[in-house]
Amino acid sequence: MSNLPQTPDRNRRLKTEDRILPEFVEVALPLPLRQTFTYRLPVGLRENIKIGARLIVPFGKRQLTGYAVALHAELNPELEIEEETIKEALELIDAEPLLTEEIIRLTQWSADYYAASWGDMLKASLPAGINRTTEQIYTITTRGRDELLKIGEAKSIKAQILKFLGEHGETPGRELAKRFGAAQSQRALRELVKENRASLLLRTLTTQVKPKRRKAVRLLSPESHTPNQKPFTEAQERIVESLLQGDGETSFTDLIELAEASASSINTLAKRGVVEVFVQEVRRDPLDKVVLPELLNLTLTGKQTDVLAEITAALGAAKYKAFLLHGVTGSGKTEIYIRAMQTTLDKGKSALMLVPEIALTPVFSRRLRAVFGDEVAILHSNLSTGERFDEWRRLRSGAARIVIGTRSAVFAPVRNVGLIIVDEEHDSSYRQHESPFYHGRDVAIVRANYAGAVVVLGSATPALESFHNAHNGKYQYVTLPNRVGNRPLASAELVDMRQIFKTAGKDSIFSPQLVEAIEETHARKEQSIILLNRRGFSQFVLCRSCGETIRCNNCDITLTFHKREGKLVCHYCNHRERTPHKCPSCEGKFLYFIGEGTEQVEDILRRKFSALRIARIDRDTTGRRKMFEETLMQFSRGEIDMLVGTQMLAKGHDFPNVTLVGVISVDAGLALPDFRAAERTFQLLTQVAGRAGRGNLAGRVLIQTFYPEHYALRHAATQNYDNFYAEEIRFRKNLNYPPFVALASILIKHPNYNYAHDNAQILRECLHASNAEKNCIILGPAPAPLARLKNEHRLQILVKARSRAKLRETLDFALHAAQEKFCDLRSVYVEIDPVNLL
Ligand code: ADP
Ligand code: ZN
Repeated sequence: MSNLPQTPDRNRRLKTEDRILPEFVEVALPLPLRQTFTYRLPVGLRENIKIGARLIVPFGKRQLTGYAVALHAELNPELEIEEETIKEALELIDAEPLLTEEIIRLTQWSADYYAASWGDMLKASLPAGINRTTEQIYTITTRGRDELLKIGEAKSIKAQILKFLGEHGETPGRELAKRFGAAQSQRALRELVKENRASLLLRTLTTQVKPKRRKAVRLLSPESHTPNQKPFTEAQERIVESLLQGDGETSFTDLIELAEASASSINTLAKRGVVEVFVQEVRRDPLDKVVLPELLNLTLTGKQTDVLAEITAALGAAKYKAFLLHGVTGSGKTEIYIRAMQTTLDKGKSALMLVPEIALTPVFSRRLRAVFGDEVAILHSNLSTGERFDEWRRLRSGAARIVIGTRSAVFAPVRNVGLIIVDEEHDSSYRQHESPFYHGRDVAIVRANYAGAVVVLGSATPALESFHNAHNGKYQYVTLPNRVGNRPLASAELVDMRQIFKTAGKDSIFSPQLVEAIEETHARKEQSIILLNRRGFSQFVLCRSCGETIRCNNCDITLTFHKREGKLVCHYCNHRERTPHKCPSCEGKFLYFIGEGTEQVEDILRRKFSALRIARIDRDTTGRRKMFEETLMQFSRGEIDMLVGTQMLAKGHDFPNVTLVGVISVDAGLALPDFRAAERTFQLLTQVAGRAGRGNLAGRVLIQTFYPEHYALRHAATQNYDNFYAEEIRFRKNLNYPPFVALASILIKHPNYNYAHDNAQILRECLHASNAEKNCIILGPAPAPLARLKNEHRLQILVKARSRAKLRETLDFALHAAQEKFCDLRSVYVEIDPVNLL
């Protein structure tokens, strides 16, 4: 994060051009290309276009939505573009640009740093559903119809598609791809169009979301009921009365109901000038009608006061400064965030807070709403598209000055940012796991740097890199070493499952210790959380006769059995199939279901503890936001005794009555072929242990494992971050891993193994050639840990360098050279600072 780019000179150039109308526009397109494109502006658009607006432009045979990132009065001669070859932009989408200059600059930095497409990054910065897209529509021609008459039974895909078009009329290409397969339908359609049997038309889809509007009625003057006018009818009286009782404004439909009047009575009043009927925009509020909690008036502890004073001082200085707030679970970090945000607002600035995917609990959102009212906007992936759109617009317009959101909220269009908070900064959900790859925390630091803002990274288990940065003085280290009220951290015990096996003579899911602890907890009317990082019923299905496991057709992964659904599911590509009764390989009849998942653990617990009210939380149950929220709210109200689930349970929740946390197993996570496996396991255990004993009751944590000697487990049990760090950082140093090297992972993906392999070889040669000075260590290509995924073979090359500059230099050079040697860069995915190496 050290080398920030220079301010692009685009800004300076523009200032001088302000008065001259631009003739050219530079457009970033959401394509996997690391360049911008220049278009000529039709005269009609020149006056209205602003930087940050979206445009529709021709690109090959397509029409694409792009983002205006620069305007020019004349062509930049350095670019050596031939004027005649420049195409004209087609349409301007936004009169008022969606993107601010700040976000344009930030996305440019991100695209550059992560070697991604600027257009992709810009697109990712906007709320989903706002982007206009084009769609390919296919229609059968007269010639095609004639042909249809000749075909009897449609055998080939091509004939089937033609028949489909004959029967259904206009059909989007998307739908045909779904029905007949993407590659096959595309080939057939290309031929059909060429033979003039079908025609292709591009249709621009309007945005999927729009502001929500409704008809409303406003009282203009009840006095116009003057003697020389006809007196009001009874219905009209009731209408005026209802409006007076409200704020003088009501929705049309509500008014009809309230006044028991008809639409025509309202319209008559409107004609007489008594009321006005108008169209009103209504806000879709994710927290509509929820009950807000009472505001706590806490006195900060001494430590909290110290930390807050440091942050407040930095806010006063109004300069870039980064803090690492290392506070154990339950140490009262949230209270500090809220007060720092309040200070920021008081200074007339805005605040941005990032939270991990799931940690934006309903409890926390309600609390923020209670403190900040409508000043706070919420952005996360569980909102409906409409809600997200409205919240985003409230930020863009300045109606809301605080934003709380997940990863992409780092690009939220708040103005004049004074404070950025990244809560649980170590969380891997800040990393976008698909292109464009970026890390929300790291972009947050750059944004703060650009804006001259204060940034606070908070965690009980800081990412190794962050702690290292604090050591180096890049971040100021502030700490809350104790829980509020000096409540002790819950004591954690490792339960050695090898001993349990020896004693019982068989594998058991629950150790007697855990069973006993559950009984005791509930006898005291307290609550418990049981964690298992594996959803589904059984992890895999094994044939007893031939020893084969049932694997996904598309991936190199065993399928997981989901009992309630009665299906085998691939957790990577979501492929589903019916559970077989015999082995697909040898037809053997004895299938074993191995490795309990959350679904099974829930079943067993229900049987064992039939008096308990148990609920499960994992990705299978949280598809519906309302249900997820409801379960958490019920648990917080004590209407549920025990929650069973995956790591979603580990994050951020504050349930004071939870005194027992049981971890069924984490060994699988430890064994993953990823250098961060130990760090992740340590973080997960420390976080989940932190859910116990947050109230006035002492907590207890039991961790079942077959590997109690592992340092990640030992240090998690004592919740000693420093000891873990000391051991882990030594390992990273000795084996050349981040933070001691800059790392890039290059994945070469293709359905055809040989094709992927050949491309990988070209890339390898070019990497070695561009690494003449031996600045980098180049490993691979080798099959990636997940060697086949979603029907693609995956080869991996790792590049390690002493500095990020050297890394980028070598990579850029090699990629360029590889392209010259016909390496297909569309199958190459470069990830800078990868978080997950699977
Ligand atoms: P963290 O985010 O560090 O895990 P929280 O901010 O959730 O911790 O605080 C843990 C609990 O302590 C919460 O219930 C919170 O209301 C309470 N708390 C925080 N600060 C104080 C304080 N100064 N006095 C009393 N209780 C506090
Ligand atoms: Zn799969």
